[in-house]
Amino acid sequence: MKIAVYPGSFDPITYGHLDVIERAIEMFDRVIVTVARNSSKQPLFSTEERVALIAEAVRPFPTVEVDTFDGLIVDYARSRNAAALLRGLRAVSDFEYEFQMALMNRKLASEIATVFLMPHEKFTYLNSSIVRELARHRTEVGDFVPDNVRAALEQRFGVPQRSVQ
Ligand code: ADP
Repeated sequence: MKIAVYPGSFDPITYGHLDVIERAIEMFDRVIVTVARNSSKQPLFSTEERVALIAEAVRPFPTVEVDTFDGLIVDYARSRNAAALLRGLRAVSDFEYEFQMALMNRKLASEIATVFLMPHEKFTYLNSSIVRELARHRTEVGDFVPDNVRAALEQRFGVPQRSVQ
């Protein structure tokens, strides 16, 4: 059984993340989306809220599981018998940091591969912080996030006053 772990902040999950997850489903028997608990960033949604939003968004995919982790991702991946760590690669700007992380993780756990997946090009400009910023300024985010996330953002910031062309 080939297991992949997809770590991240997912604050909140977007269609870009879901694109990566859907591609991974085709390659692995099980995909574990795991939310980092120890992030130094001050998140918009709590870990539990992020897990619930992801769980709802991946409900159509029976081989996807949602979890959280503390500490180093390689330790978590080992504890789950994962063969791979998944990361999304959007643009050259992602590359440097991702490359460093992948090589460091290989040094720590040579049996775990990092697999980079490229999303559909329509999601290459998308990230969670842009979505948070749009929602904070009450701009429609329905093109970027699943409906449950749109509803959660609307509850936080109010009904959007502006749409995106
Ligand atoms: P992190 O804080 O680790 O960057 P994120 O939740 O933002 O956590 O992202 C987790 C992973 O998903 C990263 O590999 C990131 O590059 C990838 N990712 C984020 N947004 C997108 C997107 N729009 N398309 C493809 N991959 C993405």
